[in-house]
Amino acid sequence: MLKIGILGGGQLGRMLLQAAANYPVITHVMENDPDCPAAHLCHQFVRGDIRNFDDVCRFGRGLDGVCIEIESVNVEALEKLESDGVRVYPSPSALRILRDKILQKQFYKEHDIPTSPFLITQNRQELKKQDTFLPAVHKIASGGYDGRGVQLISNPGDLDKGFDHPSVLEKKVDIHKEISQIVAMSRNGQTALYPAVEMIFDPVLNQLDYQLSPAEIPQQMLWRVEAIALKVVKDLKTPGIFAVELFISTNGGVLVNETAPRVHNSGHHTIEANYSSQFDMLWRVVLDYPLGNPKHIMPAAMINLVGREGYSGEVHYEGLDEILKMENAFLHLYGKKETRSGRKMGHVTLLSTDKSDLVYKARTIRKQLQIISKQPEKII
Ligand code: ADP
Repeated sequence: MLKIGILGGGQLGRMLLQAAANYPVITHVMENDPDCPAAHLCHQFVRGDIRNFDDVCRFGRGLDGVCIEIESVNVEALEKLESDGVRVYPSPSALRILRDKILQKQFYKEHDIPTSPFLITQNRQELKKQDTFLPAVHKIASGGYDGRGVQLISNPGDLDKGFDHPSVLEKKVDIHKEISQIVAMSRNGQTALYPAVEMIFDPVLNQLDYQLSPAEIPQQMLWRVEAIALKVVKDLKTPGIFAVELFISTNGGVLVNETAPRVHNSGHHTIEANYSSQFDMLWRVVLDYPLGNPKHIMPAAMINLVGREGYSGEVHYEGLDEILKMENAFLHLYGKKETRSGRKMGHVTLLSTDKSDLVYKARTIRKQLQIISKQPEKII
């Protein structure tokens, strides 16, 4: 049986392992925390730092393949493993491009992939000269995630808020919709495209409210989204699974925002809503099997369950019964012992052919489920 390693032991690793149980594969996971969500579902858990060259080399030696569940891994070690014959998904050369927002934007430009116009700033001094480029969004080249490392610079007065590190300054897009298009590519170049997903944001909290699959956009535009996402993956020239995030602008343009070379939050619903989930699909790629069917069985909504603001410590869930009573609601808790403000603790997938039913249930879950600790956070 092939031995495959996963770098990172969070919820994405956990759901990959749940899918791995259906295949002839021995799974290894490396992560610092022996109590992480993926630690108890793999055959072999290795405690180590995924950012450390020696740890990653030691972990990968003797494995047939390695995949990632987070981009912040030691890419030099992956290059070494690849040259020693270990298959790495995605290829380290593609990972090098995608984990750096400067290289990623340059890649889109070089390959004629539509993306918002941008320039590069090395420090705040350089940023401050760019007042004619506004309104724009400043994005730190590496180390940002989930919106941290992204700063809206609307007018010259905001320039002080920018980053004093190498960053991308890109034109602000008037966004109509935010879309994610998941694409898988096998080692022989076969591809599979999932129905595009639409993110719905809470206008008051300015955070992701829920996701809908399939996205509600006109067919012509869907084809454009698919064609652009397919080009991104083909031009990256690496097997794996990819979430291409795109903006549809108010004037009808389709622009790539960023690409994640791994299973992704925007594909959680595929476990129940699609014939082959994103996790199942990645195993097919990694184990060199034919790709699965990405089509949806039923339309779906997905709601992230995050730790409530102001609470940290041992997790306590309120309102689980209400969710479990709902027809076609599928609960996933990630097994994290401690909650923190905004920490992703689980998700719920809803299936229904009736969109208003999905939206109503998604909103109900957001209101009723509380993820808290017994003691509120102490304000010091
Ligand atoms: P992260 O990698 O941290 O998720 P993103 O690049 O996806 O950061 O940006 C986070 C959010 O900021 C996006 O989901 C979008 O709402 C907004 N955003 C990013 N780039 C732009 C842009 N050029 N114009 C307008 N809004 C943007």
